[in-house]
Amino acid sequence: MVSAVRAVRAPSLPPTRHGLLPWLRPELSRALRDQQGHALLVHGPEGVGQMEFALALAQAWLCETDAAARPDGLACGRCPSCHLVDERSHPDLRLIVPDALKAEAGLSADDGSDDEGRKRKPSREIRVEQIRAALEFSALTAGRSRHKVMVLHPAEALNAVAANALLKTLEEPPGGLRFVLSCGAPEALLPTIRSRCQDLRLRVPEREVALAWLQDQGLEQAAVLLDASGLQPLQALALARQGLGADVWLGFPAAARAGVLEATTSWTVPLLIDALHKLCHDSLMVTLGQSPRFFAHGAPVPAGSVGRLTAWSARLRDRARQAEHPWSAGLAFEALMIEARQQLGGVPARGGGQAGPRPGR
Ligand SMILES: [Zn+2]
Repeated sequence: MVSAVRAVRAPSLPPTRHGLLPWLRPELSRALRDQQGHALLVHGPEGVGQMEFALALAQAWLCETDAAARPDGLACGRCPSCHLVDERSHPDLRLIVPDALKAEAGLSADDGSDDEGRKRKPSREIRVEQIRAALEFSALTAGRSRHKVMVLHPAEALNAVAANALLKTLEEPPGGLRFVLSCGAPEALLPTIRSRCQDLRLRVPEREVALAWLQDQGLEQAAVLLDASGLQPLQALALARQGLGADVWLGFPAAARAGVLEATTSWTVPLLIDALHKLCHDSLMVTLGQSPRFFAHGAPVPAGSVGRLTAWSARLRDRARQAEHPWSAGLAFEALMIEARQQLGGVPARGGGQAGPRPGR
């Protein structure tokens, strides 16, 4: 069930200007000490900070302060090179992300128009043109540093053509070039990509460390949102920034059981599916006599039937795959909440009109 919950597309993460996330530091020191190959695959749950880790690694490799003067080999954070990495303008660093994630990654996004000035939806894929441009970069001599670094995030966004264009250089990079591929779903990568990378798995942080960090970010009722995120602090922050308050989360099990939509009208369809999937997971845990994970605080999560909840989980996973489909969000909300009410033992749906007002998006 846990992996099933992670299969739901998570809400997008906040911009990555947090400095070095404290829970990444031990693993980062280890990687700087032990890293042998020229290509690293950093993966783990989505809201733990894979891209932050990849960038911190790149920053340390490119840092211009004497390594002996830097604790654990980490970047000094003060030299001109470190500053350029923070500004995403270091001549020896290429951060390659889908157009849709450029703002989130601190890169300047284009205006979303095509060659003829028509608006287009930013791509969620890493395109072959981006890889070709990066490979041209790899053929140039280093600008400031003896290293060059290419960070790709998320690596599962590489489409098949782009991935194939990358393979040869990933296997035999020109001198000094290093790759860091970061991702949330390594199983989605081509085996030929994975086999060329050293594997580094990031785990969710210790609860107390994550909680202290979220409180430092000014998050109210951080414990509730940390649970909501499945101990993924960046996810917790993203949920808050999408307007998901702790009170709404605490009231969600009862609202879903009653099929009431009022508190969730500002949510997106992927966010609602993610929340329902977590509720389904916790309901199954409670049914099996275990503790809820995502709704550990607040009113008790209702139990149900193992068979029905398992089938519901599978349907939600299918829904998550189609969540970006441009169907009516209002109809999707209504259908999802009617199903939730039926699964959680609330009043059976009649006529489809009891799921509350339709949200505007
Ligand atoms: Zn530095």
